[in-house]
Amino acid sequence: MERRDRLVQEYRHDPYFVREKYPEPSVCQECGVVFQDGIFEWVKHPPKDAGNITCPACLRIQENYEGGMVILEGGFLRTHWEDIRNLLENTADRETRERPLERILEWRNEDDGSVVIRTTYEHIARRMGEAVNKAYKGELDLHYPGDEKYVRAHWSRDQ
Ligand SMILES: [Zn+2]
Repeated sequence: MERRDRLVQEYRHDPYFVREKYPEPSVCQECGVVFQDGIFEWVKHPPKDAGNITCPACLRIQENYEGGMVILEGGFLRTHWEDIRNLLENTADRETRERPLERILEWRNEDDGSVVIRTTYEHIARRMGEAVNKAYKGELDLHYPGDEKYVRAHWSRDQ
């Protein structure tokens, strides 16, 4: 019960969770994540009696509905791009392993050298911003506009 409470707490404001009635157990046809005991998790062998669903993360990806954004800017980004990109990718991979609905929705390298990463949920965006800030200092601003769980993580370092 405790795990279910945590999930409900976490996704209380998520229109993509509340609008679906997910049977248990069920498996996402897109990504293979399994919903059972009130949580989404990666499992090697989905239960045989699992129903078919599209999970909230895949719905968000299909409908291009982001739950967070990381914006990275500044000259330091260009001179250390390889390292920063690795750190971002590793951080994102770890988050997605631990919290299956936290995914990268879009990764954009802009012409002006800045990078914009849109994510399915808030947590992974915040963790990516914090990881870069912890490793390379600079300046990190976390904005939480509005009531819905959403973060815009803005990181910059000039040199
Ligand atoms: Zn899915």
